[in-house]
Order: sequence, then structure tokens, then C-alpha cells
Amino acid sequence: MLLLLTNDDGIHAPGLEILARAAQRYGDVLVVAPDTERSGVSHAITLYKPLRLREIRPGWTACDGTPTDCVYLALHHLGIKPDLVLSGINPGPNLGHDVLYSGTVAGALEGAHWGVPSIAISHCSSKEAEMPRLELPIAELLPALFAIARKSQGTINVNLPPIDRQPWKGVVATRLGQRYYSNEVIARNDPRGRHYFWIGGAEVTMPDIAGSDCNAIRDGLVSVTPLGDDLTRTSDIAHIAEQLETASLLTLPVTADLESLIPLGTELS
Ligand code: MN
Repeated sequence: MLLLLTNDDGIHAPGLEILARAAQRYGDVLVVAPDTERSGVSHAITLYKPLRLREIRPGWTACDGTPTDCVYLALHHLGIKPDLVLSGINPGPNLGHDVLYSGTVAGALEGAHWGVPSIAISHCSSKEAEMPRLELPIAELLPALFAIARKSQGTINVNLPPIDRQPWKGVVATRLGQRYYSNEVIARNDPRGRHYFWIGGAEVTMPDIAGSDCNAIRDGLVSVTPLGDDLTRTSDIAHIAEQLETASLLTLPVTADLESLIPLGTELS
């Protein structure tokens, strides 16, 4: 079995090393990962600057791009044909809304986009020093996660409760919950007197939603959430169609002359 590993914390991150050590028990591991921290880059792909690859040790290739770039180049340039893509282990949760910002999750989604079953793994603790303690529990979990990912043929998003709350109480299938950060912006001056801003508050609220990934972590359970890449809110399609029909927009010719266009600011009923 060939396992392609990536992350968004950079190729030197402890979480990647631990994931590689756990994964090596089950197959050959090849790593293509960003050369530095890329957390929060989501599914960004680099189109307007060149990318460079550098093998830093056998089987470990650093890329000066995003996790998406890494998986893309691994599959389409390096010719790696993995059975699975693993992304992580991220030091910090990827629960609820986090998945929209996460580079860790995007690395896995990119694998699934090209037909490779993929797994994103995050540790719900920011204590990176505790990463080594995850090796054995992860190694124990991996065979089950491999089987789940292969069957679902998509992405599975795995969140692990803090290792200092072991023993974990079990593993559950979940849906995305909701996770809200405080809307804090820290404004300061740099040493040359110019303003800079730092986004991100520490305070987090997670509404109690039965069956959610957030609840699972709060209950000390490993959370496994299947993710797709279809963001369509299907419940709104009918009302949009209705509004368009009411506004007679369905019959509007594409090459409408300006007279027939609805003036800007007209309220659609
Ligand atoms: Mn990260």
C-alpha cells in the first residue's frame, strides 16, 4: 500500500513526523508537504507564481506552495499513485466551520477530488509537544480509518480529543457542527510605526448540536466526519427558481437591450 502524506503546518512539523511513523506500519510512505507553515490557506492553488520542489530526505519532498499544490504536483508531476492521501496531524481542531479555512482538510479534499480516498487528521489541542504521544493511538486507529475512507471514496475528517484526556471514550461518525470564534482584531504598531493587524480571537463557542463533530470532541470521542465538495444549499434552489419566475427573469434574453433590463435597485418581490 502506498500512502501519500501532506499537511499545512510545513514539512518539519512534528504532527507530520508522527503521522508518518504511524503510517509506516501499514505501507510505503511518501511525503509532499509545504516547506513552511500554511495553516488557514484553505483550498488555495498557486497559479501565478512558479513552484519549486526540493527533496529534503528520501521520500520527503518540500514544496513552496499550498497543501493543494503539494497533492496536485505529487499526483500529476511526481507520478505518485497513492492508495490513500493522509493530511495532518494538525495541532489544533478542524471542527465545524474550521473545515472551510483549513489547509489540512483541503489537502485531503484535493486527493479525493482526483479519486484517491483521503483522510484529514487533527488533534484538538494546540500543545504540539504532546504530538509524540499520538503515535500509538493513531497507529491503532489507522486500519479502521483506511477501511472507512476506501469505502466512502471521499474525504473523511478525523478529529482526535486532546491526548491528555486519554483514554478516549470511542470513535463516532458525525456531521459538521458549528464553531464560532470571537471576532477579535488586534491592532498594533510595528517597530517602524506602521499599523498592523492580527486576526483571530481565542474565545470559541460551539452550540450543542447532537451528532456533531464538536459534541463528539466535547464528549471525549474521536470524531469521523465524511466530507464532500458540493457546497450547494439544495434547500434554497426552489425558492431561487420561484423568485426568478416571479421577476420574469427566466425569459430575459441574454442579449437584452438596456431598456429591457430591470433598473438597478429594483426590489425583487
Ligand atoms: Mn495547521
